[in-house]
Amino acid sequence: MENNTKIIATIGPACSNKKTLQSMVDSGLNVFRLNMSHGDKSSKLKLYNLVKSLSHKNGERPCLLADLAGPKIRITDVMPNFILDAGQIVTITNEKDADDNHICVTKDVGFTNITKGAAILINDGRIRLEVIDAISKNAIKCKTEIGGLVEPGKGVNFPGITLNVPTLTNQDKVDLKMALDEGADWIALSFVRSANDVKEVHAIMDEAGKRLPVMAKIEKWEAIKDVNAIAESFDGIMVARGDLGVEIPAEQVPIAQKQMIDVSRSLGKPIVIATQLLESMIDSLTPTRAEVSDIANAVFDGVDALMVTGETAMGQYPNDVIQTLARVIAETERSIPAQQKPLPETVTKTADAISHAVCEIAIDLNIKVVMTMTHSGSTALMIARYRPQTNLLALTPFAHILRQLQIVWGVMAIKVEKYDNVDVVPNLCKSVLEEMQLIESGERFVITGGVPMGVTGTTNYLSVQIR
Ligand code: PGA
Ligand code: MN
Repeated sequence: MENNTKIIATIGPACSNKKTLQSMVDSGLNVFRLNMSHGDKSSKLKLYNLVKSLSHKNGERPCLLADLAGPKIRITDVMPNFILDAGQIVTITNEKDADDNHICVTKDVGFTNITKGAAILINDGRIRLEVIDAISKNAIKCKTEIGGLVEPGKGVNFPGITLNVPTLTNQDKVDLKMALDEGADWIALSFVRSANDVKEVHAIMDEAGKRLPVMAKIEKWEAIKDVNAIAESFDGIMVARGDLGVEIPAEQVPIAQKQMIDVSRSLGKPIVIATQLLESMIDSLTPTRAEVSDIANAVFDGVDALMVTGETAMGQYPNDVIQTLARVIAETERSIPAQQKPLPETVTKTADAISHAVCEIAIDLNIKVVMTMTHSGSTALMIARYRPQTNLLALTPFAHILRQLQIVWGVMAIKVEKYDNVDVVPNLCKSVLEEMQLIESGERFVITGGVPMGVTGTTNYLSVQIR
């Protein structure tokens, strides 16, 4: 059986050749993430084409998640070999050149809401400055608390300080258009701050005449304050623990992670946990016990997918990373008791009630297969959010929906011939079951979907059938 928890890996120099990428797919990977922070147009195009040349055992290429860099602030100019010592005074600016007292960061950023004593963090939080004077909205005077070498290109985080930056940079707009042209299946937006951020992505998609689901990467302190509304407006949530652990204290990240899992799961939106899952495997073949435990706990919490970043992008053992993830997920899922927990909540909407009932019926009748007939993927999401301990098949006529569902917990998507009449559905399902041999003939299974076919979000059909 396939794992319920899905695997996403970032492509980078360590794995960007067809042989390695295909071996990762064969080891259980579902989704490749293209990180738009790196590379130029031609290197990005090359990666799209590489992924399109791969094949998953479901007959399609793996799902492609295009991750827009968003407004990340970086060191743009600094004196050569510039080492900050504890106690040293330095000004962070974006309106003059670097010198012995000034470090330059990304242009066109305004700083507001600056309070004395706030922290500014450089290079994943390794260097720590304390604000001593807000000189202007383009210059902040700081005292070094923890020093170190300051290098161009390193990220700078401003926890607690409001940055006047656009939701999408010009580069993001170019990358988004390219993603739409090149067949990306999901978009991720980095450094989301508010629920409205999705509107800017939608506006560009609508101009291009193509909507894709958009995942919010939660890695800003502001986003944590607004996570419910963000989860409502976006199509999925990623806990981007790398930057998040700098924007808020690292010890608050596990709590934020649990909250985001709860919110996303209750809305039936995919939730992805990212970063440092197997950090030690960048240069070691064996993971730490703590890493294995972190992965297992995310699986126990019922997350949709786990995403590795540097481990596969620049580590020595990209394929071993995927094999390790797949093994830990499989072992953990095997240990989860087969009997379903009581299903939560009172339901009011038809789609909620039907999907709830599907899962209740599966428990009552000990049904092993639930088949969702889905044109948009929404019925499969509705069922998956109850985490049924059945096989959950999603039958769809569309390859892009099949790929989008690769991110969703437990869903095994299968491409079928186009159908527009509900009468053909039971036989269509039976022929798929025949082929897959998941249940014996005479055993019951459930079909669910929306009638009329092809209208998104109308899960209203439920039928118990016998193979
Ligand atoms: P990044 O996102 O790799 O784009 O920074 C992941 C994270 O911040 O955890
Ligand atoms: Mn990040």
